Amino acid sequence: MYDRILVPTDGSECADRAVEHAIDLAAQYDAELRVLSVIDARDVSHSAPAISVDQVEDTLRERAESVVEAVADRAAEAGVDVETAVEPGIPDDVITEYAGENDCDLVVMGTHGRTGLERYLLGSVTERTVRRSPVPVLTVRDTE
Ligand code: ATP
Ligand code: MN
Repeated sequence: MYDRILVPTDGSECADRAVEHAIDLAAQYDAELRVLSVIDARDVSHSAPAISVDQVEDTLRERAESVVEAVADRAAEAGVDVETAVEPGIPDDVITEYAGENDCDLVVMGTHGRTGLERYLLGSVTERTVRRSPVPVLTVRDTE
């Protein structure tokens, strides 16, 4: 049923819980794992004017690289084949495009992320991905 599972992460605790589920599912199904972190174009453009856009993007890219590498290490420890990607853009656009272009058949993501308020049922990236994704989306809550 599942051959390639996509786990998008912003490095948040909730995304980390989704990662645990994604790795376990990949191991169970002998599926490949794709780990994607999107450098949010809006974070780049809303930064302080004194700092150049390139500098901000570099910093965000470094952070995203270390997030996906940490997930790749965990997946490898579990014996799961894994590939990482860091791409700039609007997160839900990039996530749905990536899933389609790479034949991912399941998306596993957190209900919330770094910036949202818990009182909302779903973070905006997850809400838009659930609405638009051509494949099933498994959402994972932060706390039991
Ligand atoms: P909001 O962004 O709407 O203020 P939030 O940050 O709490 O709220 P989301 O951004 O929707 O919620 O995050 C939910 C999940 O979406 C995360 O757990 C993660 O799986 C995924 N996600 C969010 N941002 C990114 C990103 N930049 N790159 C990859 N995945 C992301
Ligand atoms: Mn967010």
